[in-house]
Amino acid sequence: MKIFAIPMTSFTSTPLEDIPEIRDALLKGFGSGKTKSIKYRKEQLLQLAYLLKDNHQRFLDALAKDLGRPALETDFTEMTATLGDIYDSYNNVGKWAKDEKAPFSVLWYFMNPTVRKEPKGVVLIIGPFNFPILCLLMPLACALAAGNTVLLKPSELSTAVSDLVAELVPKYFEPGLVRVVQGGIPQTSKLIEYPWGHICYTGSPRVARIIAHAAANTLTPVTFELGGKNPTIVDAKGDLKLAARRILWGRNVNAGQACTAPEYVLVMRSVEEEFIKELQNTYATYYENDPSGSKSFSRIITQEHASRIAHLLSETKGKIVAGGEVDTENKYIAPTIVRDVPPDDSLMSEEIFGPVLSIIPVDNIDEAIAFAHARDKPLAVYIFTSDKKVKEKVIENTSSGAVFVNDVLIHPGATGLPFGGIGLSGYGCMTGKWGFNTFTHFRALLDSPGYLDTLALWPRFPPYTDEKYHK
Ligand code: NAD
Repeated sequence: MKIFAIPMTSFTSTPLEDIPEIRDALLKGFGSGKTKSIKYRKEQLLQLAYLLKDNHQRFLDALAKDLGRPALETDFTEMTATLGDIYDSYNNVGKWAKDEKAPFSVLWYFMNPTVRKEPKGVVLIIGPFNFPILCLLMPLACALAAGNTVLLKPSELSTAVSDLVAELVPKYFEPGLVRVVQGGIPQTSKLIEYPWGHICYTGSPRVARIIAHAAANTLTPVTFELGGKNPTIVDAKGDLKLAARRILWGRNVNAGQACTAPEYVLVMRSVEEEFIKELQNTYATYYENDPSGSKSFSRIITQEHASRIAHLLSETKGKIVAGGEVDTENKYIAPTIVRDVPPDDSLMSEEIFGPVLSIIPVDNIDEAIAFAHARDKPLAVYIFTSDKKVKEKVIENTSSGAVFVNDVLIHPGATGLPFGGIGLSGYGCMTGKWGFNTFTHFRALLDSPGYLDTLALWPRFPPYTDEKYHK
C-alpha cells in the first residue's frame, strides 16, 4: 500500500510585539484616503489576481504540501472560484460603490436622501486551514473593493500556504494596504483585543464564540463563516447514478475537509439498496479500490485531526460498506461509506470534517425534512430528485445557508449569489456584492435647504402653540 507521507512541520509566527505597528500602518493607510478612489481599488483587485496567477504553481504545490491535495482539486475548488470573485468585484465595483437615492417620498424628497457607500476601515480576516486561499483571499477581494485596508491572519495549520501568502503580500501590495500576521492562538488572541472596522472569521463555531466575546468588548462587527452537518436527501424519484457520482465526489474532495460537503444522506428506504450499490460502483471507478495509492485523494491536515475522525469511526454502530481503513500516523482516512447509521451515532455527534459518508434510511420525504429540521441549521441542504413537488417541499420546509438541487459543494463559487450560513453555520456573507456590502458602511446623507422651514417645517419650532397642533 502506497501512502503519502506528510512530515509534521512547525509554523511561522509573527512576534506579538510587531502587531501594534502593523495595525498602525493599516490605520494610517486607511486614513490617507487613497482607498476611496475606485481606480485605486480596481488596481488593487488586479494586483490580487496577478498574485494568484503569477504564482499559480506555487499555490498548487503549497496545498499539495499542506493537505496532499491534487492540483486539479485546488484549481477547481479554490483558484477558479477566487479569481472569479476577484473579476466580479473588478467589473462591478464602480456600480456597487455608487451612491443610491432613497425611494421617493414626498416628505423627504427636497432633502435629497441618499445612501453613501463608505469603507469600514481596517478589516481583520481570519482564515481556516481547509480552503486557505479561498477563505482568505475571497473576503480580501471584497474588502479591497469596498475600500478598506486589510490584515490577513492565515491558519497556522496550512503552513505552506500561510508562508506563501506572507511572502507574496508585501510584493503585490503597499505596506499600508494589506498585511499578514502569521501564527496561532497567541497571535489571534492579541489581534482580537483591538477594535477593527470589521472581523471576518472562517472556522469552527467553538472559536467563533471566542471571537464573538472579544468583538463584543470592542463593539466590532463580525461575519462568521462556520461549519456544521449538511443533510443530503435522496428521493426515490432521484437519478441515483448521478446522486452517487456527485455525493461521493463532494464528500471526499479535500479528504472531506469542506464546510459545504454533504455530511450524511437521508435516502428513501425503497431505493436504499440500489443507491448504496451505485455508491460502491462509483467508489471503485474513483479510487480503483485503493484510495491510499490514488493521486486523486488528499490527506487530513494533522495526525490529531485524523485521530479524532478515526475515533468517531471506531465508535459507529453503523455498517461500513466501503473504505474504513485508517492510518493516523500518515494522516490517512480512507473514503468511507457507513450505512444504517442511527440518529444518535458517534458519526452524527459533530461535524466529521473527514471522508466519511453516513447513510440514514427514511420512509418518506416528511421524515427526511423532520430529521434535518430537528438539528442545527447547516450551511447547505442538498436534495436529489426529479419530482418538482418534492423539490419545492424540501426548499420550503428546511432552513440553511443555501439549498442546492441535484448537486453539492460548489455553490460558493456561483457568481452573484450570497454565500454564508444561518444559525450555527454562521452569519453574513463574504462573496461578490454581498461581501462588498459586508465591508461597507451604508451612510445616510440628507441635505436640507433653508426654504423648507417656510414651506413646510416651520411648525417644528417652539413655541408649540395650539394653532400648530390643530393645523
Ligand atoms: P479553527 O476554528 O480551528 O481555526 C480557524 C482560525 O482560528 C485559525 O486561523 C486559528 O489560528 C484561529 N484559532 C484557533 N483556535 C483559536 C483560539 N482558541 N483563539 C483564537 N483563535 C483561534 O477552524 P479550522 O479547523 O481551521 O477550520 C475548520 C472549520 O471551519 C470547520 O468547522 C469548517 O466547517 C469551517 N469552515 C467554514 C467555511 C465557510 O465558509 N462557512 C469555510 C471553510 C471552513
